[in-house]
Amino acid sequence: MTTISMPRAVLTLALAAGATLAPAAGLSAQGSQDQAITAALNDAYTKFRTLQEGKNADYIPALAKVDSKIYGIALVTAAGKVYTAGDVKSEVSIQSISKVFTLAKVIEEQGPEAIEKTIGVDATGMRFNSIVSVEFSQKALGGPEMNSLVNPGAIATTSMVKGGTRDEIWKSLLGFYSDFAGRPLSVNEEVFESEAATNQRNKAIGALMYAYGYIKENPDQATDIYTEQCSVSANAKDLAMMAATLATGGKNPVTGKQVMAAKNVPYVLSVMATAGLYDDSGKWLYHTGLPAKSGVGGGIIAVAPGKFGIAVISPPLDDAGNSVRAQKAIRMIVERLGANPYQVRPN
Ligand code: GLN
Repeated sequence: MTTISMPRAVLTLALAAGATLAPAAGLSAQGSQDQAITAALNDAYTKFRTLQEGKNADYIPALAKVDSKIYGIALVTAAGKVYTAGDVKSEVSIQSISKVFTLAKVIEEQGPEAIEKTIGVDATGMRFNSIVSVEFSQKALGGPEMNSLVNPGAIATTSMVKGGTRDEIWKSLLGFYSDFAGRPLSVNEEVFESEAATNQRNKAIGALMYAYGYIKENPDQATDIYTEQCSVSANAKDLAMMAATLATGGKNPVTGKQVMAAKNVPYVLSVMATAGLYDDSGKWLYHTGLPAKSGVGGGIIAVAPGKFGIAVISPPLDDAGNSVRAQKAIRMIVERLGANPYQVRPN
């Protein structure tokens, strides 16, 4: 083994599944891993705590009222160890992060081809609620060119969730999200009502997706369930656990429940990699190499496959609708932990 410096390289190896490693300088491998992760989280927390950039989403009135000082970081390893910094108790609405888990649900129920054929798995390169992206996809040769992580594709994906009644669909969706989080999640009713009263644009998107045949029936119900899934409430630890479940082949690392089939996880992660931060997905991947997803509630999750899931919550957003602090903090932690999968240490 090449000589490596602490703590970063040790951590990279210790986190890799099945890796053996000689404890350095009297520290156990677990001890060095704990130290390195704790230090990375604390440093990222401190470094960006006083940052004054970005602004809460306000096109959904209830989101403008959320305390913009909420700032929490959580990381859950593939072995189920939880590390936190800052406020990991305060909850925000998960918003677009929900799109990941609804996509996972439909892939579980109907297989990956159903999503590829019905919605597409290409980045639109446009804003998350772009209507133009639907028009471009219409004209594309060779099938739909959207994805389940921006609004048109997400509303259509929600319309594909199986269930005889709205209530049945909703219960199955919320139960699925909760299994990822490892505890029962619930809806922030204030956010749901606020968005339901102001989501004319999403209703128009739902209607357009129906007119073009992406949604087979009842577009209003699809938009309504989509709005409710966006209003599910979670703290940073919940979100990190959801990400960690994707990092460990669909098995919640704390409850041990196999929430989705391991073979389906890569399809979800690949759409996150290309479209998880909307039109800024390329920039994100360029700097982290990790599949991730943001929501206008201020949360971002990122997945280091086989290693960990991480989440940061901080409501102020940039122009693309991504949390400013969350992007910066995760980027710094990924760098410190050597978690970019494209970065390989030569022998
Ligand atoms: N519910 C939000 C919307 O549809 C979610 C958007 C987001 O998080 N980017 O506008």
